[in-house]
Amino acid sequence: MKLTLMDCHNLYKFFNKDFFKDEFDYSLGRCHIFTDRKEAESIFGPDDYSKISGISWINDNGRNLIWLNPLLLNNKKLLCNTILHEMIHLYDYAVNPEIRNYRKGHGSYWTKIANYATALYGDYIGKIDQFGDSYEKDRLDHYKLMDSTKTLSNRYIILLRSRKIVPVKKLNKRQIAWLKSTNIRGIFKVKPNIEQTRSTRVKKYATFDMLKSVIENGISEEQENLYRDISLNLVDSTEEIWVKS
Ligand SMILES: [Zn+2]
Repeated sequence: MKLTLMDCHNLYKFFNKDFFKDEFDYSLGRCHIFTDRKEAESIFGPDDYSKISGISWINDNGRNLIWLNPLLLNNKKLLCNTILHEMIHLYDYAVNPEIRNYRKGHGSYWTKIANYATALYGDYIGKIDQFGDSYEKDRLDHYKLMDSTKTLSNRYIILLRSRKIVPVKKLNKRQIAWLKSTNIRGIFKVKPNIEQTRSTRVKKYATFDMLKSVIENGISEEQENLYRDISLNLVDSTEEIWVKS
């Protein structure tokens, strides 16, 4: 289930009371939490925002700002970890205004508070680390992969004469009949519930027209590169639809 910006604000409120108020008798002001990349660019400047989990700042009007990578909305633990990480920055900026600089924000004070938070919340939210803990990084990469690629579960795999494979999303009866009349080696349907790893996902499926062109004219380098990394064991991961005898 996807979390929302409302959940982010509730988490912010929770940590504001449970951590900053109860432990340090300090209350962070209201915060504008957002996930829009364009808005982040206008505030924080150009950067590769797909690689960043979160950024925070106090603007000239004293308003707290937290940008969160929208992929974090897929995972509550990750979201909690990052929101608290950014809130510790906001706290650090507020109580140490003389060292305020969001580009080098992980100083000794930030680290001390982050370690305190890690000890307090333990595995509920994971280690609050200087550059995001390894859990946070792995999860972000995972969601990035899920977001930018499509699964092969329930999709079709065409085994070409050259033994190269081409994935297609759907095949109708007429298309299957046509494929059987060509020189391909076989048609397979990928089982549901295969493991979702880099090698079982693709950037895009081949269209039927592309498949036709591959069969009739051979596979181009560009098409080959698109599907080169697929590594599916056809015997274990697929159901045979048709194999040339
Ligand atoms: Zn940070």
